[in-house]
Amino acid sequence: MEGCIFCKLINKEIPAELIFEDDRIVAFNDINPQAPIHILIIPKEHFDSLNVIPEEKKDILSHILLRARQIARNIGIDEKGYRIVLNTARDSGQEVLHIHFHLFGGRRMTWPPG
Ligand code: AMP
Ligand code: ZN
Repeated sequence: MEGCIFCKLINKEIPAELIFEDDRIVAFNDINPQAPIHILIIPKEHFDSLNVIPEEKKDILSHILLRARQIARNIGIDEKGYRIVLNTARDSGQEVLHIHFHLFGGRRMTWPPG
């Protein structure tokens, strides 16, 4: 997708601290972390948000969640806990229009979220 910062990151046109990559997704450290661990997980295929993922592409959602679980396990926060956030559209605070899951960990989270 032309002009999309996360597509550029996938294509290595801009740098990222990669945590995990496979044929369908990339995970990297958030540039402005909101917790000791703050990783973004994105599909390589561009979708603006959850709102436009078609039914026939639904597998990418479970794939991302299971890889998020694997990453949490690998970095040793699975037992202590972690939070996965999927902001969708304006009221959620979604700023980058390439669907991305936030994986937060390393501190006690508060509830309700802001
Ligand atoms: P959201 O507000 O849900 O759209 O989240 C966008 C996230 O992307 C924010 O947490 C930003 O800090 C993060 N971000 C933006 N640009 C980059 C980048 N080049 N590398 C890593 N994280 C980024
Ligand atoms: Zn994109």
